Amino acid sequence: MSSEFDLIRQYFSRPAPDAILGAGDDCALLQVTPGMLLAVSTDTLVAGVHFFPDADPALLGWKSLAVNLSDLAAMGATPRWATLAITLPEVDDEWLAAYADGLYRCAAQHHISLVGGDTTRGALCMTLTVMGEVPPGAALRRDGAQAGDTVWVSGCLGDAAFALAAIQGHLNLSDTDFATLSTRLHAPVPRVALGLALRQIASSAIDLSDGLLADLGHILERSQVGAELDYTQLPVSELVHDLAAHPAFDRCVLAGGDDYELCFTAPADKQDAITAIGASLGLRLTAIGQISAEAGLRVTDGDGLAIALDSVGYDHFAS
Ligand code: ADP
Ligand code: MG
Repeated sequence: MSSEFDLIRQYFSRPAPDAILGAGDDCALLQVTPGMLLAVSTDTLVAGVHFFPDADPALLGWKSLAVNLSDLAAMGATPRWATLAITLPEVDDEWLAAYADGLYRCAAQHHISLVGGDTTRGALCMTLTVMGEVPPGAALRRDGAQAGDTVWVSGCLGDAAFALAAIQGHLNLSDTDFATLSTRLHAPVPRVALGLALRQIASSAIDLSDGLLADLGHILERSQVGAELDYTQLPVSELVHDLAAHPAFDRCVLAGGDDYELCFTAPADKQDAITAIGASLGLRLTAIGQISAEAGLRVTDGDGLAIALDSVGYDHFAS
């Protein structure tokens, strides 16, 4: 069993070449690129609330950083540094080694350095703070959507929510199908490259952690606009498409959380540029609707008929 000091040294002190000084002193020392703004975001994952207490620690390590990177992506920021405040019920070396491996794997893939943190004993919980850089005026804020803009979403919707539904026993999937969907739930890919590519293109952006309707709702609220979405355009994976008859389909696709895709708005004349970005990133980017001047979020089917949003558990929208 390691002491707290050994534990930090053993698991969370890998080299941070991007820092002047990383973990080990009273503070990390970081050099922000001159002329850039620092983008900072914090997210906490609590056992039993945000993940199952017996979750695979390597996946948890990945996810705890990935969901924070997703916020940098949604801001159009380049990832630079992260800190980790972790609370552990006990020192379990096997668990810690796997958790650290997952975390550093995600960090390496997205070029972010772990430069410090805090380690305490208590109920399992982890708080990551991520820092990134964005040129002044280039950040993808929530308050920039304009009437007439197109609403876009990356990737597919509902995979993570269906994985959770399967775990909770609400549907049966084959082992391979379950593996595919649960990878989306447990190992989300933050859309960092997309966020960077959208810097000069998107008028607003948000990452989808709480579900399309709720998260787009934040853009609408902050931008003081409304939106009309075309239900028939919502992008779903083949697997979720095959679940179209399932009673939870609308809820999973429209209101399911944890997909960590980006929802963004852009002027209509940016369509070709966005299509080119999708092609160069190998990422599906789908136009799903339009921003309107009048407040409110409406989802219509192919015939223009409105879909009742309270039926999918969507009850929050400040009009
Ligand atoms: P202090 O008592 O000054 O707060 P700590 O003992 O909490 O110092 O931390 C010692 C060093 O280890 C600090 O540089 C801190 O940033 C780093 N550190 C502590 N916990 C973690 C962690 N979970 N991940 C990364 N670095 C950590
Ligand atoms: Mg401390």
